[in-house]
Amino acid sequence: MGERWFFRNAEEWVAIAERLKQTACPHCKIAGALNRHGCLYGFDESSPRQKTVRARRIFCSNRQARPGCGRTFSVWFADKIRRLSLTAGALWRFLQCAAAGGILAGIRALECQLSDRTMQRIWKRFDQGQSKIRTALCRRCPPPELPPRLPAIAARQPAAQVLAHLQAAFPDVHCPIAAFQHTMHTFFV
Ligand SMILES: [Zn+2]
Repeated sequence: MGERWFFRNAEEWVAIAERLKQTACPHCKIAGALNRHGCLYGFDESSPRQKTVRARRIFCSNRQARPGCGRTFSVWFADKIRRLSLTAGALWRFLQCAAAGGILAGIRALECQLSDRTMQRIWKRFDQGQSKIRTALCRRCPPPELPPRLPAIAARQPAAQVLAHLQAAFPDVHCPIAAFQHTMHTFFV
């Protein structure tokens, strides 16, 4: 399954749910077997004490002689980050501050409940995914012509360039990471 599905709000999810019976399964490509199959819940900084919906599960039914493959998949809320209790908006703020001023600056800017070690792992995850992100962005637009204001530390410059490219690709949105996931049909990290 290469392409991931995302929704940005309740209306988009309703539209996806209403089309399910006509939609082909991303695994087996058969249409007419998809059913809603519950939700994935989790915590993030927007709701640290109460779980929120992170994704909607879909089942490709092979029960009662239905033609599906029996597999499930998720349709993700674009503002959530897989395996991470942060919203896309918080991740965007963290990465921008961390690229400019270092990981500690990113942690201070975020003021969230995650440990410093977790935030360092998040940075590493982004750092290791940079070339994949850059390749995806280049399919949408070239990197910005004017070089971004780069941090003095050379090791952080590639990250700053990727974030500038991301912003150039989605200039008018509240959160470029959520827009990336929704538009490119792939997880940001
Ligand atoms: Zn299927």
